Amino acid sequence: MFEKKDKNCIFCKIAKGDLKADIKYEDDKILAFSDINPQAPVHILVIPRKHIATLNEADGEILGHLVSAARDIAGREGVSEKGYRLLVNCGDMGGQEVSHLHVHILGGRKMKWPPG
Ligand code: 5GP
Ligand code: ZN
Repeated sequence: MFEKKDKNCIFCKIAKGDLKADIKYEDDKILAFSDINPQAPVHILVIPRKHIATLNEADGEILGHLVSAARDIAGREGVSEKGYRLLVNCGDMGGQEVSHLHVHILGGRKMKWPPG
């Protein structure tokens, strides 16, 4: 798996505890925290602890872990029944701004389709 250490990566800093975040879940492989600029009443990011730049570099094991954890977090946040959205922006054309893989959990309002 391609894995680039990036000293300036803000999500690596959050994972190490060097940058403050509202942590919602953590284990030895992943953590989840509230998005600093929420786009919905529930907006949480789920990330691998190790620096994986994009979805293109991630293996199935970590992806399964991220998605199942995101599903469980959505449940604990109370949005499972009404519905929610998981979103991964990949690369420039995909709208990815932070180059550390993250799954967005968005819930608590009706999501639009198609996205912009
Ligand atoms: P992307 O566009 O890369 O898919 O999403 C990056 C997300 O990270 C954005 O929703 C943005 O609000 C969030 N974000 C950027 N910097 C920080 C930060 O320092 N802390 C937190 N909690 N979220 C951040
Ligand atoms: Zn990183």
